[in-house]
Amino acid sequence: MNNMGSIIVSPIGDIPSWMSDIIATDVGDFFEFSTRVEKILDDIFFAYDADRNQYHSTKILEKLAKNAPNDCIKIIAVTKEDLFIPILTHVYGEAQLGGKACIVSIARLIADLEVEIVNKGCKRIVKEAIHELGHTFDLRHCEDERCLMHYCYCRRLEDVDRKSSRFCRYCKIFLADSIRDLGR
Ligand SMILES: [Zn+2]
Ligand SMILES: [Zn+2]
Repeated sequence: MNNMGSIIVSPIGDIPSWMSDIIATDVGDFFEFSTRVEKILDDIFFAYDADRNQYHSTKILEKLAKNAPNDCIKIIAVTKEDLFIPILTHVYGEAQLGGKACIVSIARLIADLEVEIVNKGCKRIVKEAIHELGHTFDLRHCEDERCLMHYCYCRRLEDVDRKSSRFCRYCKIFLADSIRDLGR
């Protein structure tokens, strides 16, 4: 376990607390950082685009990074709202490459909160959360299709489900180097 600070899972709006807790547990296990759930933004109306009826994720990341608590090494925000960046119709998430903040939207990853589909939906959300956090640790997209840092070209749910829950050995080494540099 690293003592450099905590990863914060930050729910936006009424994300169920059990979902934040699952993400925090899985992300903490994966990155070996202490992880806690903490609300940082009260709302994201400032990022709302009325023409698209979606939220501009880049703006949310800037505000999250600005409001990050002192002991926070990375923030992964979770929202129910549909996210976009101007060049794409939608994104499952976005990260500041080598920065502090990233976000995932559950809007397209989980159909509804019925018990049968919650497990599958949660797995997707955790995968996307780890992928986006990987970017904040400066990891780029990986060519290995089995690696969690692989880019889903078609951005379909089948691709997310097919992705493994692990980094390839190169991404693992890169991550370890990146974490070591943070401690300097
Ligand atoms: Zn990515
Ligand atoms: Zn990889």
